Amino acid sequence: MSILVVGSVAFDTVETPFGKAEKVLGGSASFFSVAAAFFAPVNLVGVVGTDFGEKEMAAFRGRPIDTLGLERMDGKTFHWQGKYSYDLNARDTICTDLNVFEFFKPKIPPAYRQSAFVFLGNIDPLLQRDVLEQVERPKVVACDTMNFWIKGKPEELRRTLRKVDVLLVNDAEVRQLSGEWNIVKAARAVRAMGPRTLIVKKGEHGVLMFGEESSFAAPAYPLENVFDPTGAGDTFGGGFVGYLAAAGHTGDAVLRQAVIMGSTLASFCVEAFSLDRLLCLTRAEIDERFRLFRRLTHFEDI
Ligand code: AMP
Repeated sequence: MSILVVGSVAFDTVETPFGKAEKVLGGSASFFSVAAAFFAPVNLVGVVGTDFGEKEMAAFRGRPIDTLGLERMDGKTFHWQGKYSYDLNARDTICTDLNVFEFFKPKIPPAYRQSAFVFLGNIDPLLQRDVLEQVERPKVVACDTMNFWIKGKPEELRRTLRKVDVLLVNDAEVRQLSGEWNIVKAARAVRAMGPRTLIVKKGEHGVLMFGEESSFAAPAYPLENVFDPTGAGDTFGGGFVGYLAAAGHTGDAVLRQAVIMGSTLASFCVEAFSLDRLLCLTRAEIDERFRLFRRLTHFEDI
């Protein structure tokens, strides 16, 4: 089943203790699309400027990623600059140049309107709802958001959340959204706002899923070399939603497998700058790490 993704397509400038990358391909929709396309066809909606060339587009070519919905506007592509210290869980945003992204009004091409799975990247909750109004009864709506919208447009966000099946946020965001410090209480409060499944991303500490039937926890895959965490959350989202779309449903067992698949894809993302590792990744490597993940977390009942 196909996936519609709406979000940022960007140039990122990233500094970590291990090096610096300037104006490389980034953006939530880019990471999401490349990860999800390992499992299901992706319809990409976003906006880029005239500086976004064939070199960048090459990342989407040769994969089941449709870029008909990637609008090109006069002006510069969205640019984000961030810096990490050795604590790779915390980053400072140095600058956010919205450029053409400031005028982004997602237009869903007719061919995309029957997408069964929708991923609403981190954009204005009003625009997220606008997207949902342009699609015909999707099977699953997954959504990301951030502190900027939780604080800046709480009412709009609440309205969007009523239409969301799966919300993916980090631990600080779930606390801010609910006003509860305890994650379990916070999860209950957020699920009461609409999403029947809540995914709480905790960076190198893994992921918690709160669902209708049960809760589930997955660690981050222990890696010796973590190079750049940028995009890990969106790559998780791509692996997670991609796996669900391939399965065609969201039963409890499939949701748990999807969390591990999301974590598997994210573990590759952080091994290099930008989408570099994802772009040379093979399905065999994914399956092997997924298998190692099962061994990592398996234990016998007493
Ligand atoms: P993540 O590390 O998963 O949170 O995602 C990082 C990506 O989000 C980067 O590639 C940025 O280009 C993109 N990004 C950063 N700030 C924003 C923003 N305000 N709106 C949309 N995308 C953003």
